[in-house]
Amino acid sequence: MAGLRSWRRHIRGIVDQAARATLLLSRFERRMRRRPTLLMYHRVLSEALCEGYPFPSLAISADAFEQQVAWLVRRTEVVTAAEATQRMLSPGEPTARPVVALTFDDGYADNYDIAATILERHGVRGTFFLASDFVGEGRLLWYDHTALLVLANEDQRLFECAAFCGVERPSAQDLAAGRVLAWVEQLKRTETDVRTQWIAAVDADSPSLDRQNYRAMRPEHAADLARRGHEIGVHSVTHEILPLLSDEALAFELEGSREAIAKWAGVRGSGFCYPNGSHDERVVAATRASGYAYACTTTHPKDGAIEDMLLLGRVDVQRSRVSRPNGRFDLVAFRAEVCGLHEWLR
Ligand SMILES: [Zn+2]
Repeated sequence: MAGLRSWRRHIRGIVDQAARATLLLSRFERRMRRRPTLLMYHRVLSEALCEGYPFPSLAISADAFEQQVAWLVRRTEVVTAAEATQRMLSPGEPTARPVVALTFDDGYADNYDIAATILERHGVRGTFFLASDFVGEGRLLWYDHTALLVLANEDQRLFECAAFCGVERPSAQDLAAGRVLAWVEQLKRTETDVRTQWIAAVDADSPSLDRQNYRAMRPEHAADLARRGHEIGVHSVTHEILPLLSDEALAFELEGSREAIAKWAGVRGSGFCYPNGSHDERVVAATRASGYAYACTTTHPKDGAIEDMLLLGRVDVQRSRVSRPNGRFDLVAFRAEVCGLHEWLR
């Protein structure tokens, strides 16, 4: 598996270099000037923490991130997502430089400690979508809690609790591919109450969990970010899978979160980000009715004009897509990812 991944990165590196040599990359980068691009990040961590992180697609190293920001500042106009979406509403001639916004989901402590510091060192600001229970109450996000429990317990115990609570077991094939992701994906398809029971049941007899690396920023950090010119957006209360919720629970996730965040950050978020990117027509309509000016998904932006400000795609800056076979950051791959060339080639 690792061999195949490394081989793919090797081939992709050759394709990227060819795209650069033939100016295909420049052509895609020029196209970016037609409308703003939103980038999606979750965590910015030290190289050592990135290596063992159970959700590899969600973490990027501080060093790689700094190189990304340095390049973006040189070659694009970096703005917040709120400003980028304002520009989407009044499209005109292509801008002199591509307009790009960096967005961060969830509200981890590293967003405040590392990401914001790097952004400011380069004179730009970002958009932070916060889950209000995670930041406000310091509760673990349910999938981080799940990851810690899966890593701390044998399959047998997880299966016993699953049978007790009525959670379906992940398939043997999914478990073989990765235990943490297999359980998290299974639980995403499970009703909230049942999932919560399973987590509580496993946690009850679990060895103690090291939560240190899964901490949220504190509410005062969110207020500080807002004061320093970053945008604070909303990412629900509990990071539930919204389409699974009742209308009442959905309204609470959309509005309770914005109110809580407004209390500590002093600003009322105008942007929402669907947890897990999960949405359906009802969720989008409720988000619109809640008065959000824009909302982000986790899917790649579609070509052409923006059809709905409540369904904005983002470029997912995943470590594996912007690094060489040896794991080092690859600037050409990053450029190919940001301008949509990788997506076009996929
Ligand atoms: Zn999230």
